[in-house]
Amino acid sequence: MVDAAPAADAKLWDRLGLRRGRDPYILRGILWCGRCGHRMYPVSMAGGGRRSYGCPYRCHGLVDAAGIEQLVGDAACRQLPFGVPDEYRSAFYAELLVRVAVDAAGGLVFTWRTGCEVGDAAALPVMEVVAR
Ligand SMILES: [Zn+2]
Repeated sequence: MVDAAPAADAKLWDRLGLRRGRDPYILRGILWCGRCGHRMYPVSMAGGGRRSYGCPYRCHGLVDAAGIEQLVGDAACRQLPFGVPDEYRSAFYAELLVRVAVDAAGGLVFTWRTGCEVGDAAALPVMEVVAR
């Protein structure tokens, strides 16, 4: 992992080997449906510009992208002693998280690579990846 570091130094982030991302769907590949166990995919509404994530089997309604990205960002911040620039969030979340599952009630179940978990204790998944 990374020692405490200033957030804004782009060279530092590049040196860490994190790819800068332009994908606005920063949870792409990380977000899973907790009900059917499939990866959720980005959905952009024509015209309105609203971004969402959806389950391919429609287990639940579309999840508002900005809202869930904020929740994941807040949870990630609790794991880190420093901030992460927006363009590195996607790569950084991939380092931190195995996955984030959206359960049937819309709650989030985090599986961290470090082995610590945040979320509903009753809904914790088996850890798929423990420390790297
Ligand atoms: Zn599903």
